[in-house]
Amino acid sequence: MAESIAATAGGQAAGTPGSGTDPGSEDSLIRALRPRNFGEYVGQGNVISSLKVAVQAAKQRAEAVDHVLFHGPPGLGKTTLAHIIAREMGVKLTHTSGPALERPVDMVGLLSNLEAGEVLFIDEIHRLSHAVEEYLYSAMEDFVVDFVTGKGAYSRTLSFPLKRFTLVGATTRAGMLSAPLRDRFGMVYHLDYYSPEELTRVVVRSAQILEVKIEMDGAAEIARRSRGVPRVANRLLRRVRDYAEVHGKGVATLPISRKALEIEGVDELGLDRLDRQYLSTLAVQYRGGPAGIEAIAATINEDSQTLVDVVEPFLLKIGFIIRTPQGRKATPEGLSHLGVDGSANADADADRKQGKLGI
Ligand code: ADP
Repeated sequence: MAESIAATAGGQAAGTPGSGTDPGSEDSLIRALRPRNFGEYVGQGNVISSLKVAVQAAKQRAEAVDHVLFHGPPGLGKTTLAHIIAREMGVKLTHTSGPALERPVDMVGLLSNLEAGEVLFIDEIHRLSHAVEEYLYSAMEDFVVDFVTGKGAYSRTLSFPLKRFTLVGATTRAGMLSAPLRDRFGMVYHLDYYSPEELTRVVVRSAQILEVKIEMDGAAEIARRSRGVPRVANRLLRRVRDYAEVHGKGVATLPISRKALEIEGVDELGLDRLDRQYLSTLAVQYRGGPAGIEAIAATINEDSQTLVDVVEPFLLKIGFIIRTPQGRKATPEGLSHLGVDGSANADADADRKQGKLGI
């Protein structure tokens, strides 16, 4: 269930690939790539400036940082920021997730074990059950948990005091958070997709840590095809590294990067196989739409939540699909990317121009 991580100031040295038992494993490589302080974190300038002030002020007052909520698509750095806050504060972070906290007693157990100033990180916080979530309200606001004992006229409420902690929540679906929970966060930040320039910096930094020789245009190519997401950039870099070692004297040049990404099924715009499968299902089977998300998910045998969280936000951002009250539609740009004739779907464009975007 919950995993405790000592995120104190010192920590692992920069450039050391991982701290696990097997330093070469994929897991420890991924851990090594995680920025460990505000200085190493690329992009999201406004979020970082604001967080730096909050952390500095909390330190000066010797208090816990106010509760923070991060929302945005997967892989943009929400978990990383939670760890950075704990590390910059010099406190321990306890990592758990909404689905892992099944019963109120799980939540109460975690909360009562927190020391003053510590960070409790709840990933996928929108998936907390209502019963568990209710315990968070008084914990976040008054730093107490209330238990009700007995029934009816004999029931009594007992309050247990907690230390002042910081809750950091992360979600891909801010809209699914209840208003009472959302209102209890003192800071709410939306993380947006990264620019190709920012992702190039992520790729170059990761290449240094992984000791991969990379040319600037090779790094820029990986960045351009990473659909705005650092986690994708790091994954593609590892595939390019493999290909460069086997076919390119270990140097990630532009042609090597292009070839490796082509083999990975990542196209010019960064769309992968699942993105194209979604788009072509909508374009061909559903004649450009409108189609419901559950119908599309069933047709391609994929979890609808993955499509909503991972695939659709990027396709919406680049204007390849739109959401209307009737369902998803492919735009002429989306159809032409697939080489499909857009005439059957001319009304999608008309809707978009009229601003009927039920997003
Ligand atoms: P999320 O919690 O939003 O799904 P993570 O924090 O797990 O995303 O980030 C995924 C990976 O991407 C991290 O391991 C890290 O290596 C990389 N990453 C994320 N944000 C940044 C950033 N701003 N700068 C550099 N690397 C980043």
